[in-house]
Amino acid sequence: MLVFEPMNEVIYSVRMHAERAGAHLCGAERLVAAGRIEETTAALVRRALEHPRGRAEALRLAVDPIDPAAVLRGVLPEVRTFQVPNFSAGRELAARLLHQAGVSPAAGAFALQTLARGAAPDGRSMRGAMLIGALSGRRLEPDGARGVRVTRMDLSPRAEARLQAALAPYGLDRIQVREALVLAAKVMAAPGVIAELCWSDDPDYTTGYVAAPALGYVRITELKPRDDERGGRAFFVKEEQLDMAALLAFLEGQVFVADAVSAVHPPREWC
Ligand code: AMP
Repeated sequence: MLVFEPMNEVIYSVRMHAERAGAHLCGAERLVAAGRIEETTAALVRRALEHPRGRAEALRLAVDPIDPAAVLRGVLPEVRTFQVPNFSAGRELAARLLHQAGVSPAAGAFALQTLARGAAPDGRSMRGAMLIGALSGRRLEPDGARGVRVTRMDLSPRAEARLQAALAPYGLDRIQVREALVLAAKVMAAPGVIAELCWSDDPDYTTGYVAAPALGYVRITELKPRDDERGGRAFFVKEEQLDMAALLAFLEGQVFVADAVSAVHPPREWC
């Protein structure tokens, strides 16, 4: 359920973008009350300085007030985890889930192959996501090197505490898991998107997910080989009714705060 409803207090967007060796290293954003700006800024700076791919050399911070009337509030999807023996099995499971979500087998296979070989023209990871026609498998994002970046989303403090408590029993309470869930919740709420596929560009992190309104958020423990730096995201869209301008405005600009969580299920083996 999604509701536009004024939040009680003004919130601020706190954004960090860090570079190393003249290239993008990492970026993160939080939406917080005025009283949490200082601690949030410090945490984002620490994150850039302790990044696994090296210490940030240049860093930019921005703090901007958000119009309370513009906040869309939503609910995080249910979380399931399937343990698979290797990444080939993981990709087979992802293909099946995407099909269940309404993505054609050709479009699903194209997305998996494209992420596997590096979705940017130079064979590396994109900074943002691909947009893929759910039936045709055509790539639709306006900039095939950058992709579409989803920003302006976070959890309310209450939802964050609940999510941490729900993830902790399974050893899943990590910032990467929380952020990916919030991103997936916003993407699922986007006009015209029917499913998402993701795996990380972090060489040590092999888990990825398929998310769709009908499936929830399904984690798959192996979607790529360890030590592979290629990762990415694909958002599958219904081409027939696509309003590209509205979709990009939503993904890049709509402020989204998840203020309720759904169940987190125990991991299961898939065979
Ligand atoms: P991560 O889960 O942070 O390792 O990101 C995995 C991949 O998802 C990256 O290589 C990008 O291609 C893509 N990505 C990361 N952050 C975003 C975002 N905010 N919006 C869209 N795509 C993203």
